[in-house]
Amino acid sequence: MIDAHPHIGTNKLPQIIAKIRETILNFGGEIYFEHKLIDIIHDKSSIKEITVLDLNTNSGKTFPVQKLILATGHSARDIYELLNKKNILIEAKPFAMGVRAEHPQELIDRIQYHCGSLTEVNEKRTYLPASSYSLVQQVEGRGVYSFCMCPGGIIAPCATSQEEVVTNGWSPSKRNNPYANSGIVVGFDLKDFEPYKNFGALAGLEFQKQLEHNAWIHGGKMQTAPAQRLQDFVNNRLSSSLPDCSYQPGIKSVMMNEVLGKLIGNSLQQGFKAFGTKMRGYLTNEALIVGVESRTSTPVRIPRDKESLQHPELKNLFPCGEGAGFAGGIISAAIDGERCAEAK
Ligand SMILES: Cc1cc2nc3c(=O)[nH]c(=O)nc-3n(C[C@H](O)[C@H](O)[C@H](O)COP(=O)(O)OP(=O)(O)OC[C@H]3O[C@@H](n4cnc5c(N)ncnc54)[C@H](O)[C@@H]3O)c2cc1C
Repeated sequence: MIDAHPHIGTNKLPQIIAKIRETILNFGGEIYFEHKLIDIIHDKSSIKEITVLDLNTNSGKTFPVQKLILATGHSARDIYELLNKKNILIEAKPFAMGVRAEHPQELIDRIQYHCGSLTEVNEKRTYLPASSYSLVQQVEGRGVYSFCMCPGGIIAPCATSQEEVVTNGWSPSKRNNPYANSGIVVGFDLKDFEPYKNFGALAGLEFQKQLEHNAWIHGGKMQTAPAQRLQDFVNNRLSSSLPDCSYQPGIKSVMMNEVLGKLIGNSLQQGFKAFGTKMRGYLTNEALIVGVESRTSTPVRIPRDKESLQHPELKNLFPCGEGAGFAGGIISAAIDGERCAEAK
């Protein structure tokens, strides 16, 4: 329990999802692939119908609703916009954004396993797994911390719309890639969304969109991600070259502060300096940062009652999982799904 890691190995997930689907079908459920929820019809106290678009035929179907578990994840911006448009209560929520940092895994092993040489690392790695880390630092009252650390992992492109660049990370079950990556993010409070206050409950989401669009522009208006060597970033120097990186679409050397803006840039610079003293060798130009890591959790909460799990206004709506703000990661989202399914 103490050493629990959230990453079972992303390569193992497809088989698990297939089994979940089989179970649903065996119990009489129906699954509609390539269909999208596009409308919710409700009166003052409950949802009456939903409209779903068949993406292949571009035709809509309407389903009567007795109970609706809404579990569309934290990237379903169209759903937040739909709820907002339909005057269904949603709230802005604090969340965090920043970058992915990537080091050679061997370097992190050397630090964490206290090895003097590569030979020593190799000896220890005969018995020990690719090492991980967890770092946190308060910078001017704001949390800067590692998130979703992926030993032996890969940085993945995770944009969900046009004209944005979004990074995330994953580890295969063997954790045998030559890189260690982690989100390094800065926590935001509702007051930080002030410049976007005209967007109401969607203020944080607009802030997130803006950062992802900046990354797209600085990356060259493709999925190429903006990047900088770590020490160069901390010292405000453009990197004249970049090390190899696991991010497949490629990276482009830029001044990351121009992508991130003052608030995130300064917080990360100070955070990285502190991490360099906590983990000697971490703050190095062998490492790089790639941007932007912006989908740590949802910027919008769909509220619900603690006991009944129902939306405060619509009694047959059960906001669920990470997109509603009640889970973070696969297991907690899955357990939240079970709780909503069991709710009366
Ligand atoms: C690259 C990557 C690696 C990750 N690795 C890990 C890990 O190792 N461990 C971990 O704990 N977490 C990991 N996560 C996070 C994890 O995937 C999420 O926390 C989890 O999937 C959230 O579950 P959810 O069911 O709430 O939402 P989701 O899994 O996002 O599911 C939402 C579903 O709703 C669908 N949807 C959205 N809008 C609509 C609509 N309008 N109509 C119909 N359907 C819609 C989506 O297509 C999606 O299928 C990773 C995430 C990424 C991107």
